Amino acid sequence: MVHQKCVRKPTRKCIENVMKDYDLEKGTYERVGRILLDEMEQGLSRDTNASAVIKMFPTYVRALPDGSERGNFLALDLGGTNFRVLLITLKGASVEMENKIYPISQELMIGHGTKLFDHIASCISDFMTDHNLKGAGHLPLGFTFSFPCAQDSLNVGRLVQWTKGFACEGVQNQDVVKLLHEAIARRGDIDVECVALLNDTVGCLMSCAFLDHNTEIGVILGTGTNACYMEKLDRVGTWDGDRGEPQQVIINTEWGAFGSNGCLDFLRTDVDKAIDEASLNPGKQLYEKMISGMYMGEIVRRVLVKCVSQGLLFEGHSSDLLDTPARFYTKYISEIEKDTDEDEFRRTKIVFEELGLEEHLTDDDCRNVQYICSLVSQRAAYLASAGIATLLNRIEKPNITVAVDGSLYRYHPYFHQLMMDKTRQLLKPELNFHIRLSEDGSGRGAALVAAVAHRYHSQGIHGYKPTTNG
Ligand code: ADP
Ligand code: MG
Repeated sequence: MVHQKCVRKPTRKCIENVMKDYDLEKGTYERVGRILLDEMEQGLSRDTNASAVIKMFPTYVRALPDGSERGNFLALDLGGTNFRVLLITLKGASVEMENKIYPISQELMIGHGTKLFDHIASCISDFMTDHNLKGAGHLPLGFTFSFPCAQDSLNVGRLVQWTKGFACEGVQNQDVVKLLHEAIARRGDIDVECVALLNDTVGCLMSCAFLDHNTEIGVILGTGTNACYMEKLDRVGTWDGDRGEPQQVIINTEWGAFGSNGCLDFLRTDVDKAIDEASLNPGKQLYEKMISGMYMGEIVRRVLVKCVSQGLLFEGHSSDLLDTPARFYTKYISEIEKDTDEDEFRRTKIVFEELGLEEHLTDDDCRNVQYICSLVSQRAAYLASAGIATLLNRIEKPNITVAVDGSLYRYHPYFHQLMMDKTRQLLKPELNFHIRLSEDGSGRGAALVAAVAHRYHSQGIHGYKPTTNG
């Protein structure tokens, strides 16, 4: 269907009007930060944690790497785009790493948990054969398991809820380390002990802290979004572990859940609401749905469809692909925003060729689409900044490094700069900060947590319960 062009105003004005709800004032982001702080405090308090939206899970990781970590470690990375087994060799300043990706079938993702953990153990065994690690003695393992977990110690954690397309029976409320150890024991051919269970945010923080000792915040901006930070023990009402030195613990905020009690409804757009209603988890993870890679492309797609229906883009034409949910990828936004007038919108043209709209694409359309993408990206980056500034203001140290991992942050051309600018604006003026890309937190970070666990254990710090016979 071809739609009538908006006749009264120039097209750009009409598009600015469609996008005005994405162009939020500083005061709105300040308000988001204040609400977030309140929600985080509810998660930390023993009295309100049960009903809190942001769960603020204590991770039992209480020390940062100091650069002295050494040894061979295995790591597992489950809960991102790929499942991987890794071997990490820490040698002081240098780190060697080998890894292999193992596919996880749809059948395993929604089948029985026993099958999933048997598969994981068989991948570990295969990897150890490949790397001549069988018979080489006992190997400690760090398990990056990026799903919300309530931990009782560094290597005991119950899955609260599956997310990201996993739904294995018999795992929710179970200790996933125990399930892994049982699967390893069923095989009987590998001498491996999981000494640490961690979230990818924690791996991200630890991996960056290894190089930069001011790192106290880890943020993921990938498929989803989440953050962790180092908190003082006396501010963690839910803490029931040991209170000796160091009197701190990394908190996995699970901030993606922010908003599910309606507290962000004042800024959510009609498109945000439609995306949520069509999602697998309506009403949940509302902050995440405005920020992360899984949703940003879909926000833009729905805005484009709306503009087409008002005759504002592509001479009023849509295409089957543009009309298909989830078919406008977040990586397209990065491509489109990289374009300039000088290179004649080369990348944007490729995107719309892929979507079957090249015939109707004018240079004005390219400029307008780029404007739409830039406002959706800007809002995502600024919302993430409101979260980061809230954590920085709470920690209140003069110079903190924020470690960030995830393809959205890594590949978007302006996300870093947008976050720097807005975080600076929202931060107490006397504080300073850096935002740095963290390299391979799920692997190197897992090994570092395992190494630090080993150090705790040898120093008799609690929080790590040795299991099995190892
Ligand atoms: P995960 O979060 O699953 O561990 P990644 O960090 O690789 O994995 O993030 C994947 C997400 O990043 C996807 O949702 C995708 O939309 C987004 N993404 C991938 N490439 C790009 C890109 N070039 N620009 C922006 N976002 C991207
Ligand atoms: Mg990841």
